[in-house]
Amino acid sequence: MSLLQISEPNQSKNPHQHRYALGIDLGTTHSLVSVVRSGKAGVLPFEHSPLLPSVVYYGNQSTTPLVGEQALAYADDLTNTIISAKRFMGRAKSDIKFSHPYQLAGSDKTMPAFITAQGEKSPVETSAHILKHLKNHAAAALPPDSIQGAVITVPAYFDDAQRTATKDAATVAGLTVLRLLNEPTAAAIAYGLDKNTTHGVYLVYDLGGGTFDVSLLRLSDGVFEVLATGGNSALGGDDIDRLLANWLIKTANLNPADIDNAEKSRLAKLAKQYKQALTDSDTVAIDINIQGQTLQTTLDNQTLSQIIEPVIRRTILACGQVLADAKIDKNTLNDVILVGGSTRMPVIRQAVQTHFGRTPLCSINPDEVVAIGASIAADQLVNQSNNALLLLDVTPLSLGVETMGGLVEVIIPRNTPIPVTRRQVFTTHQDGQTGMVVHVVQGERDTVADCRSLARFELHGIPPMKAGLARIEITYAIDANGQLTVSARETTTDVVSQIQVSPSYGLSEEQQEQLLKAGFEYAQADKAARMLIELKVDAERELIALNSALQEFAELLSDEQKQALADKMQAVQAAIAQDDKAVLDDALGKLKPHSDHFASVIMNKNVKDALAGTHTSDW
Ligand code: ADP
Ligand code: MG
Repeated sequence: MSLLQISEPNQSKNPHQHRYALGIDLGTTHSLVSVVRSGKAGVLPFEHSPLLPSVVYYGNQSTTPLVGEQALAYADDLTNTIISAKRFMGRAKSDIKFSHPYQLAGSDKTMPAFITAQGEKSPVETSAHILKHLKNHAAAALPPDSIQGAVITVPAYFDDAQRTATKDAATVAGLTVLRLLNEPTAAAIAYGLDKNTTHGVYLVYDLGGGTFDVSLLRLSDGVFEVLATGGNSALGGDDIDRLLANWLIKTANLNPADIDNAEKSRLAKLAKQYKQALTDSDTVAIDINIQGQTLQTTLDNQTLSQIIEPVIRRTILACGQVLADAKIDKNTLNDVILVGGSTRMPVIRQAVQTHFGRTPLCSINPDEVVAIGASIAADQLVNQSNNALLLLDVTPLSLGVETMGGLVEVIIPRNTPIPVTRRQVFTTHQDGQTGMVVHVVQGERDTVADCRSLARFELHGIPPMKAGLARIEITYAIDANGQLTVSARETTTDVVSQIQVSPSYGLSEEQQEQLLKAGFEYAQADKAARMLIELKVDAERELIALNSALQEFAELLSDEQKQALADKMQAVQAAIAQDDKAVLDDALGKLKPHSDHFASVIMNKNVKDALAGTHTSDW
């Protein structure tokens, strides 16, 4: 019996040829590659472990660069074995303030290159060697030519230059970047937080080998937004190893100051083994020799937690700082997520649990969780959505909203990495206004007429209030697929209205370029137009306010005063229609003394009213 092949519309004609996409965690200490197969995400292990040391050897013991374990074998060759290229990515030589053993080529203002026995190697090239190794490893495990690209994770605090360097490294490695994804966001995706809930605030605690990163994420309508980041770029598992090595030395009744660096580094390696052993059992037996002294003892988790207390304390302080920056109370967090190899340690988990008063999420291996989340995102990008949107990982054009007078207020500027959520608060401009049109536009020009109109919707049910009192919060959220959701919410009543649009849908690259070019060409003219429109809006507002004041307080003015005010108001009305800034400036200038006088008369009356009926004895 043979099976019938069925192919769904819009899907590959060859349903057997599955499209795979990689999730890559390009870490400072370790890198990993993960992939979704048969609906399940999993890392692709190397011979000993799924973790590939992020190390490349460029020494003369080999004619080609060596990556991973092979490179680690030459760790003693300090200048030719690059062990933390990530710290150099997108950094100018003058930015590099941390200590390192490398010889750097290049001028102060550019990204330096490592001077090695195999020539000058830029950090981008070193990262490319690691990426290529991961890619080849994945290719060997998957059907030929089935890899569509990769989602690569970067720290949330990475700036444009660091992100660009990471993308460049992928290009050099021959890897298509589907998207750069923030590491904490990848971890949240691995836990399916974007699928299980629609809103929440999460703290991601990432303690790796040499860095501690803490990030606060807000999930709204399926889109994660990084609220704040913090941490310490020189705090991690290596510090734990050093503290423990010092404890070994002191417990052997020796003075750490008398121990040379080579011995210390041997002890740090041993310390690392003991610390890792304490993940699975509560005590570990120690039987070693330090400079002729035998050390026989046992170490338990309780003692370990005292030894590494300085590290724990500093991570908790950094968490507090980030929460304070974002003005978020730790008790209102929806979850705390543990990331990074060092959070395998029971003593760290316990400390986090005690501090936050809740069990952190740690069911997924904390050193794999970022790669796993990245592969889930990658799989969604190639297998579950509209291909037209896939390559969009920053907003190609600015997205804005129409404001008074046909002006554009940009909500999400172009080149903003997505997913992204941005909010801005607007108000009504007329007394008693109960509805509002939200007009969503795309482009770089200042006026709506010169941008592309994407969508329009209305918000109804705003309670009647004085102009300027209603608070209408407009939110633009772009999800990983480039889908834009715009919502408007009146904050005092919680009336909400929203719409979905695909910003790049139907817009060719040439059209995008056209809109961009226009933005640059017309910048000057736009500025003048914008100033005129703003002036017109102000003038109209002033007339509305004066008219409503006249209805209530006309009797406070003499007939001549009323007539003079009315004449000047009419002149302003006429000037608004003329589209000439000088004319309007002039008319407004002539109106000013009259409107100022009227305002002061009204104020005097109000003060008198307030005092009327009040006896001096009440004071
Ligand atoms: P990075 O993201 O900086 O590349 P990782 O997340 O891979 O780093 O974390 C590496 C650190 O995790 C190392 O310091 C390593 O000693 C530590 N680590 C890994 N496994 C364990 C374990 N079982 N117990 C304690 N520490 C561990
Ligand atoms: Mg990491």
